[in-house]
Amino acid sequence: MDAQFSPEDAAFREEVRAFIAENLPEKIQRQSELTPSYVSKEDTRTWHKILHKKGWIAPNWPAEYGGTGWTPMQKHIFEEETQAVSTPRLSPFGLMMVGPVIYTFGTEAQKQEHLPKILNCDRFWCQGYSEPGSGSDLASLKTRAVLDGDEYVVNGQKIWTSHAHHADWIFALVRTNTEVKKQEGISFLLIDLNAPGIERRPIISMDGGHYLNEVFFTDVRVPVTNRIGEENKGWTYAKFLLGNERSGIAGVGKSKKKIEKIIAAAQQERGIGEGRLWDDPEFRSKVSAVSSKLSALENINLRMLAAEAAGKTVGPEASILKINGTEIEQSLNEIFVEALGNFAAPYEPEGLNIDANLDPVEPEYGRGVMTEHLLRRAATIYGGTNEVQRDIIAKHVLGL
Ligand SMILES: Cc1cc2nc3c(=O)[nH]c(=O)nc-3n(C[C@H](O)[C@H](O)[C@H](O)COP(=O)(O)OP(=O)(O)OC[C@H]3O[C@@H](n4cnc5c(N)ncnc54)[C@H](O)[C@@H]3O)c2cc1C
Repeated sequence: MDAQFSPEDAAFREEVRAFIAENLPEKIQRQSELTPSYVSKEDTRTWHKILHKKGWIAPNWPAEYGGTGWTPMQKHIFEEETQAVSTPRLSPFGLMMVGPVIYTFGTEAQKQEHLPKILNCDRFWCQGYSEPGSGSDLASLKTRAVLDGDEYVVNGQKIWTSHAHHADWIFALVRTNTEVKKQEGISFLLIDLNAPGIERRPIISMDGGHYLNEVFFTDVRVPVTNRIGEENKGWTYAKFLLGNERSGIAGVGKSKKKIEKIIAAAQQERGIGEGRLWDDPEFRSKVSAVSSKLSALENINLRMLAAEAAGKTVGPEASILKINGTEIEQSLNEIFVEALGNFAAPYEPEGLNIDANLDPVEPEYGRGVMTEHLLRRAATIYGGTNEVQRDIIAKHVLGL
């Protein structure tokens, strides 16, 4: 299996690097570098539109719907380069999640209505899967949709709905049959969040930020034409969507960059005695242990890409990337907090905005580190918890 970069790949990497350097507005890059979660909706949209204009917004879509036609390796290089420069995180809900569901299972009218607006970033989406009591056991969801003429009447509640407060539409799993096996009574609806009867309530996470929400549905009327595919077949479309979520999940580029930042900070911070923290063998060995895991993950990732390029399907093995990518990220965040010592402690959310007129307590390299540490504790939970991913590997990869 050839997991090496070809000369064409190297040239492509240069092209991506040059494009980002020339086109990503410096202010947006600085904000995204300082605290990725503080990049505004408008700045995210600006970067989205820049990529769209270039034709690079949807690498994973088929070319006929606006995809780039890149090889798996080119997609990987693009992700690595964007992560290394801290370009804004694009909203995944349209591009990575509902878009592929629509072009694969949607009607012609649904494709025409939604795909151009996803590519253009004229419509923000959010994901209405989880409910109180139905997270890992998603198929037990209870939000009810009852057919009334040519509309469904939807009642129930979703929770942990990321960015619902910014979104215009939600794709939601709803129960349309209570008499059958739980997976066989679910439908997949596209719902306009401005429809009467929808209420969004914020959930503030432990870093103090507002990304999450509860979404309540009370007698919300949704046209039947907004259903994806067949009634009661929503579980099939929901699983297809989750399978598409994996692009970039290893986060190798991002973690490599974080290691560089930790080393730079440790060279400044005081260690034991007269030396700097980076002179402390114990600290260095912690960083190198995680670096080794990251190298192993990068190799696994490249091998999977090479397999894909050779026409093989990478299925449940992708859970390995999710587990290791998120655990490496969390270890690095912990090491970074440790490196900063007291400087990690001050809580100054205003200082996380590059426009803030504030002289932060901590040095420049310490800004945003605690916020990222607290926020990304959730990385091993969302997108399917790591325990559930381990179950997937046990059952479907190892055959246990
Ligand atoms: C920051 C964040 C953003 C999110 N964004 C969204 C979103 O936009 N849309 C959306 O629909 N959902 C979203 N979620 C919800 C997320 O998908 C769920 O939190 C996740 O699936 C876990 O479900 P749960 O919270 O109900 O926990 P539970 O499923 O109750 O799990 C509790 C614990 O039990 C463990 N566990 C459960 N089942 C098993 C099993 N079979 N084997 C071993 N261990 C098990 C879990 O690993 C976990 O440790 C988000 C969550 C977070 C934290």
